[in-house]
Amino acid sequence: MNLTMITENLKTIQTTITNTAYKCGRDPSTIRLVAVSKRHPTDSIRKAMAAGQNLFGENYIQEAADKCRIIGKEASFHFIGHLQSNKAKLAAELFTMIETVDRYKLAKALHSHLEKLDKTLDILIQVNIGRDPKKSGILPEKAKELLKQISPLSRLRPKGLMTMPPFTSDPKESRTYFKALRLLALELGEHDLFYNNESIELSMGMSHDFPEAIEEGATLIRIGTAIFGERPLNPSLS
Ligand SMILES: *Cc1c(COP(=O)(O)O)cnc(C)c1O
Repeated sequence: MNLTMITENLKTIQTTITNTAYKCGRDPSTIRLVAVSKRHPTDSIRKAMAAGQNLFGENYIQEAADKCRIIGKEASFHFIGHLQSNKAKLAAELFTMIETVDRYKLAKALHSHLEKLDKTLDILIQVNIGRDPKKSGILPEKAKELLKQISPLSRLRPKGLMTMPPFTSDPKESRTYFKALRLLALELGEHDLFYNNESIELSMGMSHDFPEAIEEGATLIRIGTAIFGERPLNPSLS
């Protein structure tokens, strides 16, 4: 995609974010757009940056590492893919947030690398809210126990929850899942299980259903296709 198209797409999405937020009585500045650049070239990230976007989401650790090195510190990256514990070191170095922590082993691996790096890291707990056997994420009823296990790991800041509901072509169906994630976050917040229980992050909503996610309280929306177009099958870095 060329610069004009990416710029236009970002503008359209920002307008939808603003209008949807006002419609449901929310402050648009509490909703952050994560531009999902997986499998798109680094050049597309540069174009989005030229249009004012500075937060990106990546799913594949090696691809992300290469892109982060090329882009440097002018943009932030969230990791939104499945993370293996043996890749925790790289992840701890590269990302400002890992949105997909779903097991203690991974949390522990991240924590030990963060100690060595002497830094802290924002994380979200990925919840398999739709109980989809094909999806990662912890089952909703296990989230409390995981957060309790994580709480002594002082280098990790659990800021909230993330989910990817089962795909449906009808965004109204996604909405049921978004609502369930919000209610779960509220309940966990009442037990003081997050880093800041007054302001819990909810990462939910993608290209086809982000307005519904905003209506249900999303603070992070992850949008790829609506910004960058269809993803190439293989990543290219040029
Ligand atoms: C790819 C991906 C997205 C973006 O999906 P689009 O439909 O292209 O907007 C969002 N979240 C996760 C976890 C993804 O893997």
